[in-house]
Amino acid sequence: MKTIWKNNIKSFNKLNKNIKCDTLIIGGGIAGLWCAYNLSKQGQKVCILEANKVGSGVTSGSTAILNYAQLIIYDTLIKKHGEKVAKRYLDDTINAINQIKNVTESENIDCNLNKTDFVLFTTKTCGATKLKKEKIALEKLGVETKFVELEELPYKIKKALSIKGSYLLDPLLLLNGLTNYVISKGGEIYENTMVTSQPDGKVIEVDGYKVEAKNFIIATHYPYINFPGFYFLKLYQSQNYIIVFKPNEKQKNFAANTTYECIDKNSFEYRRIGKNILCLGPDVRTGTKPYISKYQIIRDHLNEYFEGYEEIFRFSAQDCITADGLPYAGLYSDFLDNVYVLTGFNKWGITNSFITAEVICNKILNKSNKKQENIYAPDRNNFFASIIKTIENLGVDIAGWSNNLLNVDSKKITRIKNNQGAVVKINGMRVGVYRNENGKLHIIRGTCTHLGCALRWNKDENSFDCPCHGSRFDINGNILNNPAIKKAEKIKT
Ligand SMILES: Cc1cc2nc3c(=O)[nH]c(=O)nc-3n(C[C@H](O)[C@H](O)[C@H](O)COP(=O)(O)OP(=O)(O)OC[C@H]3O[C@@H](n4cnc5c(N)ncnc54)[C@H](O)[C@@H]3O)c2cc1C
Repeated sequence: MKTIWKNNIKSFNKLNKNIKCDTLIIGGGIAGLWCAYNLSKQGQKVCILEANKVGSGVTSGSTAILNYAQLIIYDTLIKKHGEKVAKRYLDDTINAINQIKNVTESENIDCNLNKTDFVLFTTKTCGATKLKKEKIALEKLGVETKFVELEELPYKIKKALSIKGSYLLDPLLLLNGLTNYVISKGGEIYENTMVTSQPDGKVIEVDGYKVEAKNFIIATHYPYINFPGFYFLKLYQSQNYIIVFKPNEKQKNFAANTTYECIDKNSFEYRRIGKNILCLGPDVRTGTKPYISKYQIIRDHLNEYFEGYEEIFRFSAQDCITADGLPYAGLYSDFLDNVYVLTGFNKWGITNSFITAEVICNKILNKSNKKQENIYAPDRNNFFASIIKTIENLGVDIAGWSNNLLNVDSKKITRIKNNQGAVVKINGMRVGVYRNENGKLHIIRGTCTHLGCALRWNKDENSFDCPCHGSRFDINGNILNNPAIKKAEKIKT
């Protein structure tokens, strides 16, 4: 994955022998590494199996703000889950921020952790009402915030809420520090090792080798086991497109001490990276029909308000979103022995991975806090909190499966110009086609290898994306994002 962060994490071998450990962690992102750190600290021998490279997943596309004011969350959590649960989540997040800071200090992890002022703002009247409600919700939960006047933003705003206690960091430098710690405690890491099978309670077979462990943690971002667990019914993926830019001379100090996040639909976030500014564009469900270039939306915004800016880097990333607004951590399923999962970080995975890793590790180490465990339990059933999103997800799944069967939105291969792609029908088969700059065709099957939804062409990233669960494939069928664990088949021209 393209990343703005410097990756100096060492490389590790592919799994090439049978291994044994206390806990096997599948996935080497921030979630897997927090689990590995916690368990190693408690004297466990851990092994990590990573499909690509440690830190090559979503963590490398994070904007990495540590913050408890996660847009309009507490007003929603109180309505959906009640005050106690909302308070627990708030306290857990504040604790995670403090603990992350402590870990970086105690383990000497230099990850550019810096304090930032944080401001949530709106340009709309309805947004001002939402912000007022969020302020009241935060106060109910014991956090004082204040409305502030903003001069710095280059456009008019309606209301702005200032939040204390936020930090910025470099997620790959943090991951590097955690990796070094785990290795120093005797942990083993294997890269380029994709796990596709299910653990049977004591052992899992990977690439013909046996891995024996007392516990298994699935930290693969989107869980790769569909049955049991049914995580494909509980999660969808939401993508953001990001442009990092150098501001013009007049705006060179913009966002120098403050991180800004707009709460309105189709809005932007600004976060400083050294001399440059990272502008995060609107949320889009992965695989949404690509009518307009998502990068162009950000460029239009920058042209209007940051005239004379210089584009430095662009990338996109996606995260798992849960139906009821809280992450999942705990037993993967009652039907899988000793298998745990942490996922569904709702774009706040630097802190949420810390919280959920603690929940799982406490469970493994028999130090569970039942109340906390129940809040994040993957099998929690809060019907009213999740019903709307669950129906929405089911609707997208049904549309994706039907599109695949009916080939609804196919167009003709002859209409695809150079440097363009589309999903089309050839001899009754749905295929993804990309015509390169020389007119050469790259053709893959147009059906997602995860659960069979119809793929869609993403012209911003030259990829074929699944709207159902967010798997993404490049023009040669290689997996860019899971839950798919199988490449899309290449079709000979
Ligand atoms: C645009 C964007 C901005 C964000 N900004 C913030 C922010 O400001 N603050 C914040 O707190 N959070 C933020 N987040 C969220 C946070 O970055 C993510 O939630 C977090 O990085 C996810 O970490 P992870 O370890 O679950 O996933 P990953 O980093 O993707 O790690 C999972 C790893 O598992 C591996 N894997 C997958 N399948 C297999 C398999 N079958 N076998 C072996 N290995 C496998 C992958 O290769 C990958 O390396 C943001 C997210 C996005 C998308």
